[in-house]
Amino acid sequence: MKTVFVVGAGPAGMFAARKIALAGHNAVLFNRDVKPGGLAEYGIYPLKDKMKFGLRKQFDQVLALPNVYYFGNVKIGNGYDLTIADLDALHPSAILYTSGAQGAHSLGLPGENSRGVYAAKDFVYNYNQLPPYTAQDFSTGRRVAIIGIGNVAIDIARWLLQNSPSRTTEEVTIIARRGPLEIKFDKKEIAYVERHIAPSVLAAELTRIKDRCARANQDVSAAAIFGEHFPMLMESDFTPIPPRLSFRFLSSPSAVIPGPDGRIAQLEVADNDLVLRSDGSTKPVANGQKTLLDIDTLIFAIGDKHDEALGLPMGPSGYSTLIDPDHPDQPVFQVWDPVNACPLPGRFVAGWARLASTGLVGIARHDGELGAEQTIHYLETQAEGDTPGPDAILAALKARGLQPVTKPDLALLAKAERQEAEKRHLNYFKYSDNASMFAAIERERAHFSQAGDSAKLQPVSFDN
Ligand SMILES: Cc1cc2nc3c(=O)[nH]c(=O)nc-3n(C[C@H](O)[C@H](O)[C@H](O)COP(=O)(O)OP(=O)(O)OC[C@H]3O[C@@H](n4cnc5c(N)ncnc54)[C@H](O)[C@@H]3O)c2cc1C
Repeated sequence: MKTVFVVGAGPAGMFAARKIALAGHNAVLFNRDVKPGGLAEYGIYPLKDKMKFGLRKQFDQVLALPNVYYFGNVKIGNGYDLTIADLDALHPSAILYTSGAQGAHSLGLPGENSRGVYAAKDFVYNYNQLPPYTAQDFSTGRRVAIIGIGNVAIDIARWLLQNSPSRTTEEVTIIARRGPLEIKFDKKEIAYVERHIAPSVLAAELTRIKDRCARANQDVSAAAIFGEHFPMLMESDFTPIPPRLSFRFLSSPSAVIPGPDGRIAQLEVADNDLVLRSDGSTKPVANGQKTLLDIDTLIFAIGDKHDEALGLPMGPSGYSTLIDPDHPDQPVFQVWDPVNACPLPGRFVAGWARLASTGLVGIARHDGELGAEQTIHYLETQAEGDTPGPDAILAALKARGLQPVTKPDLALLAKAERQEAEKRHLNYFKYSDNASMFAAIERERAHFSQAGDSAKLQPVSFDN
């Protein structure tokens, strides 16, 4: 049997591991978080229960495969728990990187480091209870601006308008550098928050930008835009509810102005004109007009980028991958070393690690599976490897002072969380810090040992 290391256990990594295991190889997952799931667990909106439960069940089924192994709480990269060189030294037959896009784009604005300014993913990790983000300050005020106009921006608006237990929100303003024709959010997502929009306020904003949009051949009349994106606002009995959700189009943030307490107090935005390109797309161009908005919380929801510290070679838009000159549009998963101008044999990337912030879970799953197929294809050209078994890997991780979480540990944690949910009369409960998770695992382990079941909790060996 050959052994593939899979870095990351989000949807791409989990479904890739499944495919690799079902092809008869060992799949060893190394995951930064204690639990698997990535953004499926810690990004998808907390109230999307059905989707989250369904995905957790599928991830459990992957972990139930005997030749899938799991080491959680192990972060790969330079300055992290293990480097890529450390992984290479264990001689896996191949490595598939599915560690997502963990960096956040920033605009490099003056004052951007003020308190109350957050990257969307970090903010979402916080309300989805991912350690260590749960323990960090993501306090929000009364007037929140979100930069970006996709589904993530709408998720965050929903949280601030409806579900955050500590919410003090009076108004959320979504700021977009282009016009409403470039709205990226889905109808299903905006429907959750549409009743917070005052039709007269949105209509006034559309009037404010209409001439500039018309110069780029865009009709942004209320009839056109409400009909396309905000159908609820056209219902005769529609009455908006507080807190308010508003939009500001053709505006790019240009500076964050902190108050005396160091927290953002104002956001300066530059107004844009829209320039029509020959291919029909538009380009926002600052027209010199600037406005100050009173804002006490600012969230950037403008997409994610790859974490350079992982240590893979970087290309123009993330980790560098081989491009097939004959099929430049087809996805390629093999890592390309641009310095030495050669592919890295047996090294692949998939999911958001390949294309940041691209698509829903189904797309990430598909990408992970395609990456796994290419990995499996590569394995066919390779002799049997000499990768140490999981018990030896576990011992090596522990010898480095790490606290890896294994499949039996996850089972114990799941049991403890189920019990806690029952006690609290909740559908689901999850611990929001690593110390509580480890304490729960140890409590359950002690309980199992007393019941004489400890044999079930031993690490196992590869049968190669
Ligand atoms: C706010 C938000 C809401 C979303 N809502 C929906 C939705 O409602 N429906 C839907 O279908 N999709 C939704 N998505 C998209 C979906 O979450 C992604 O498509 C999917 O999770 C991407 O999968 P992935 O495995 O490529 O990356 P991720 O899910 O990001 O997984 C990356 C994995 O890598 C691990 N990792 C990271 N760095 C390292 C490292 N250095 N070493 C080891 N492990 C590492 C992480 O712990 C994680 O397990 C949402 C995304 C966001 C951001």
